[in-house]
Order: sequence, then structure tokens, then C-alpha cells
Amino acid sequence: MMQFDTNYVMTINGEAVVTKNTQPVYNPATRAVFAEVPDASKELLDDTVRAARQALEPWRNTPVSQRQSAMEGFADLLEAHSEELMTLLTREQGKPRAGAEFEVLGSVAWIRAIATQSLPDELVEETDERRVITRFTPVGVVGAIVPWNFPILLSIWKIAPALMAGCTLILKPSPYTPLCDLKMVELAQQAFPPGVLSAVSGGDDLGKWITSHPGINKVAFTGSTETGRHVMRSAADTIKRVTLELGGNDPAIVLPDVDAKAIAPELFWAAFQNNAQFCNVSKRLYIHEDIYDEVRDALVEFIEANIKVGDGTLEDTDLGPIQNSMQYGKVKDYFADCHANGYKFALGGKIDENAKGWFVPVSLVDNPPENSRIVQEEPFGPILPLLKWSDEDDVIARANDTIYGLGATVWGKDLNAVERIGSQLEAGTVWLNEVHQYSPFQAFGGHKQSGLGCENSLHGLMEYTNWQTTTLKK
Ligand code: NAD
Repeated sequence: MMQFDTNYVMTINGEAVVTKNTQPVYNPATRAVFAEVPDASKELLDDTVRAARQALEPWRNTPVSQRQSAMEGFADLLEAHSEELMTLLTREQGKPRAGAEFEVLGSVAWIRAIATQSLPDELVEETDERRVITRFTPVGVVGAIVPWNFPILLSIWKIAPALMAGCTLILKPSPYTPLCDLKMVELAQQAFPPGVLSAVSGGDDLGKWITSHPGINKVAFTGSTETGRHVMRSAADTIKRVTLELGGNDPAIVLPDVDAKAIAPELFWAAFQNNAQFCNVSKRLYIHEDIYDEVRDALVEFIEANIKVGDGTLEDTDLGPIQNSMQYGKVKDYFADCHANGYKFALGGKIDENAKGWFVPVSLVDNPPENSRIVQEEPFGPILPLLKWSDEDDVIARANDTIYGLGATVWGKDLNAVERIGSQLEAGTVWLNEVHQYSPFQAFGGHKQSGLGCENSLHGLMEYTNWQTTTLKK
């Protein structure tokens, strides 16, 4: 197998750049530092922006077909290095092999699909008197800021459409998971001219410098709602375009006619995929009271018999650790709050703080109050509240009673009821009898405080453009 070298570099104007100051990167399965990455200064960001601006004119004038070929070259490079990327992803993020495979190979497929997308000019009017055309021109230099749960895929969701639209892009990975992103951008230099795609690593301050930089035209951000508010405020001074993909508190509504045993594995993965460090996992499971006990017990049985939490490099691991100590602390706090309030755990509930890595057991909270923190907030870890419902209007109101509106699911055999309930949920994506079905051709984004704008599909591509209308009087 090919091996990446252990030098992690930023890429600025096509060149590898290191800094005297570095930041540590931890393996979450062992809590040990295993790599160091450059820590960019403000001056280095200025250099990066300058190079991205210089690259903009030639890149936007490059025919779409050539941009498409470059993109395919990029996908080929990632595919050729997919084994190394998967290994590195498990090491820095913690996710087991299956998740790493989905993320890396999914990213390759995503790039190829987005490379087929383009926005032709719209002929609005063609008469003897006038011609009116609306074109989609690139928005300019993009700053892309990503989180630590899907570091590769969420970067590709920005890089691919931005570059296809004719923009240049500067990627800032999460300080917790910078390695795959830095390697990916380093590799990409074989496919793109210098300055088209750059990467800078550093702390949260680097994010702030990006959102306030006058040379950057748009910020594409994925992260928490709290940081999203800062990004939007900071972008206001220079009227930057923003796409915000933020937090969620997705409800899942389970009807009384489900087969509890059959649905338990689906509900489990809906709620615990990526060790529940996923904006779109089901974070509140509303189960009809007639079948509540059966579904709860089937979930417990399924988890006890099948799910192993551990080091993602081990073959039999299903769920890895919490990715970082900050998040581990937050998740521990939700456990402590549940215990302090006397909520009952149907499963789990006890964290072994002496474990080698930041491991947390899969935990189910048995019908806590609707106003509890575990129901109202986004824990972003493997602790799920199970809740009872009896009245359809009431459960819809409870599902919608949140600042978030990212995703929602409904599960049942009565398809009329499933669709009727689904149509009343306030969320960017409503999955009915399935979950986590994404596509490069399907718009993805949040309602309410889960975000602004969208990614994927032609709607997502459009977010990297300005409309320009030209009228000609003949
Ligand atoms: P975060 O908001 O803490 O950090 C995200 C990124 O923003 C990081 O790169 C960070 O360095 C940077 N950052 C931090 N402060 C900043 C500032 N003031 N200005 C600019 N950049 C700044 O989020 P996280 O903990 O990395 O990720 C978890 C959150 O992301 C969860 O809330 C989750 O729901 C959300 N998320 C949303 C989606 C989506 O598509 N809607 C996808 C994945 C994760």
C-alpha cells in the first residue's frame, strides 16, 4: 500500500508551506498526539488570498469542459490515494473503516457528479427589439470553513461546485481534523493551476480572519449554529455571500404500525451513524405510546447483540470514539445532566473516564421530559432520548418546536399517515421510511437556524455565482 509521508503542509499558490509554530493533532482512540500541522499567520492568509485572486481571472475564463477535465483528474488522484486517505481519516477522526470508505469513495463519486453540472446562460427575451440574457458569473474567491465530523466530504461539497462555477477556493480545515484535508489539497495541485485551490491550517482565529478578509467574496461554512452566527456577523462588513450549513436536532417520528424488531436496526443507524457526531442523525426519537416499550426493547436488544464501540482501526468496531476532548467534555455534561435530574437510562449511561480513548457507550434515555436539555439541545454524541407520543398534532408540534430545521424522518406502514405527517415537518430534508439518502443532484440545507442557502444540485452550484443580466436594444 502507498503511504503518505508524515509531513503535513499548507498549500499556497501551488507551493508547500510550513510554519515555525505548529498545532498538535490527536488520535481520538488513544488521546495521543501523532502529527503536527502548520499554524498560519494572518500574513500567510494574505498571501493565500492574493494568489487566489491572481488565479481567479484565468480560471474563470477556462472553458467549462477544461474545468471539468481538471475536476475528473482530481477525482482520479483521490481514488488512487483512497486507501491512504481512509487510513488517515480513521486515525485523525476515529471513524471505523466502513465510515471512512463511505466518506472517501463518496467524495470521489461526488466530484465526478458535480463535474457534470453547469449553469447555461438563460435567454430571457429574444425579440426584434431586444435581447436579454442572464448569465451566472463566478462569485470570486471563496473561503471554505469545515468541521471535524466529515472533514473530506464536507470540503468536497464546497470545492467541487466552487471550482466548477469558476471560483477559486481557500480551504480551512477544522483544527481537530486537518490532515486529510491538507493531503487532499496537496494532491489536487497535480490537477489544478496554482492558486485555484489552496489550504491553510490554524485555529479558530484563522476562521475569523477569513470571514472578515476584504479579498474573499464568499464564505461557505459548515459548523455549529453558534459559530454560524459569528460568521454571518463578520461577513456583514464586506457583504460577503454566505452559505451556512449548521446544527440540527432532527426528530424521528415512529408510527404505531411499525414492526419493532425489523425497524430497530434502521432507527439505530438513523441515530448513531458516525457515532452520532453528525448534523443529520435523529436526535429525538418520538415513538407512539402503543409500541413504545416494544421499540425501546428491540433497540436495546439490537445494540447489545450487534454494536461494538472501539478503536476504528479494529475490524469489528462499529462505532469509534468521540473525536476530540472538547466534544468529549460536552457529551459527558449531557450524561451528568441526565443523572442529576434522575432520568432513566434504558441502555448505557456510564462513561468509563479511564478508557484509553474518548469512548462513550451507546446510551438511550427512557422518556425524559420534553423540556430537558437532552431533548432540546444537540448533544452531538451517542446519547439519544426516546419519547412517547399519542396525538398526531401534538407530536408534529413537538417535532417543530425547535430553533433547528435541518432534517426529519417519519417511519410507518401507513404511507398516507407517513406522508401527511412528513409534509408538516419544518426541515430542509424530510426522509420517509429511510434516512441519510444524499445525492449530488439533491439540494441539501437547513430551515430556520440550521442554515442559509444549500449545497449540492444546481441550486448549490448557483450559490457560487452572481446573476448578471445583460440587455441589448437592437
Ligand atoms: P464549529 O462551529 O465549532 O467549527 C466549525 C469550523 O469553524 C471549524 O473549522 C472552526 O475552526 C471554525 N471556526 C470556529 N470559530 C470560528 C469563527 N469565529 N469564525 C470562523 N470560523 C470559526 O463546529 P464543529 O464543532 O467543528 O462541528 C460540529 C457542528 O457542526 C454541529 O453543530 C453540527 O450539527 C454542525 N454540522 C452541520 C452540518 C450541516 O451540513 N448542516 C454538517 C456537519 C456538522
